[in-house]
Amino acid sequence: MAIKNDIIVMKFGGTSVADAKKIKNVARKAIKAKEGGSKVVVTVSAMGSTTDDLIEMSNQITGAPSRREMDMLLSTGEQVSIALLSMAIHEKEQPCISLTGNQAGILTDNIYTNAKILSINCNRITNELKKGKIVIVAGFQGVSRQNDITTLGRGGSDTTAVALASALNAKYCEIYTDVTGVYATDPNMVQEAKKIHSLSYDEMLELASSGAKVLHLRAVEFAKKYNVVLHVRSSFDDIEGTWIMEKTNEKMERPIITGVSYDTNQVKITVHGLEDKPGIAASLFGQLAEENINVDLIVQNVSEENIATISLTVTENDKDLAKKVLQELNYKNFELDTEVGKVSIIGAGMQTHPGIAAKMFKFLGDEGINIEMISTSPIRISCIIRKDKIKSAVKALHKGFELDK
Ligand code: ASP
Ligand code: MG
Repeated sequence: MAIKNDIIVMKFGGTSVADAKKIKNVARKAIKAKEGGSKVVVTVSAMGSTTDDLIEMSNQITGAPSRREMDMLLSTGEQVSIALLSMAIHEKEQPCISLTGNQAGILTDNIYTNAKILSINCNRITNELKKGKIVIVAGFQGVSRQNDITTLGRGGSDTTAVALASALNAKYCEIYTDVTGVYATDPNMVQEAKKIHSLSYDEMLELASSGAKVLHLRAVEFAKKYNVVLHVRSSFDDIEGTWIMEKTNEKMERPIITGVSYDTNQVKITVHGLEDKPGIAASLFGQLAEENINVDLIVQNVSEENIATISLTVTENDKDLAKKVLQELNYKNFELDTEVGKVSIIGAGMQTHPGIAAKMFKFLGDEGINIEMISTSPIRISCIIRKDKIKSAVKALHKGFELDK
């Protein structure tokens, strides 16, 4: 791996720059990082709910805004934050400059409101850093080859930060947010939940897709692809947060299970009376895929009479569309169950430790929790259970796998 430059990228979300006082706090953090000896690039989101407010304003004008004009509008939010933050740093007599996505050299495709970064020309940023300045880059925006402003999709500032860190070959990318890091499970549900010191990209991706909402999935995928070390931490204290990276230098053996997550946004669909012959599953799932419905867990049971029952889960959002697909396919005998939830354990260590699934099922069984569906990946095991048992399941697994130790 190439040696990293002495640059850090710090990203602050909307809640971290919501008012003047908070912007001054961000200024203090950026200056402190620079005084620590690093070159500092900061990227920020729009203040508080600005992006939502701008969308709401456009709704008052038209139900069908041009997507180009939408990006023209939404990009203003970040432009406000970068200017104010730069002023706050000047106020502390520190050299600093703010740059829009365009000025920072962030080239994207021209898919307005959901553009992808094609490349970053870092010349301007590196020149400003060489002059000793803190460089502030507007998150969430870029420019197309046609020289039009684009935005990267909601939550896109995380992506800006990771892309900058990659292009600048930064030491790491710090994502400042309103939580102190990634927890072994939801601290609102389990009081004893501990902050995770470090985890791998895959563990973070599994945690995120299994319900833990700390980081933008796309940003983690990006970080993994370009090997950018992430540090997720709170903007409201100076405590170390959670590191996300491929390999940790920790001498200690990593725990087998890193986290427990849950998702109450699941709906179980059971289709009865299917013929047990080739092509049946393909037609059902093919049609669901056609409608862009993401199917999560799948279970099939076949009776002696060669009649199959298939159960699958989709998200609450896709429920109605899935129902429509089944009706259109002329399935008559199916039911939707919204009272289910998914609980998952995640850990890279399970690849080398057999028996983890058995343990999980035992911990759930001891709580009197019935498992309705199971799915696994190399580093995750998920179970569908009754929704009202989610809390006791999370607690039992957290305790059982000794995540409180
Ligand atoms: N301001 C944009 C949004 O609210 C981008 C971001 O916050 O990351 O989606
Ligand atoms: Mg945001």
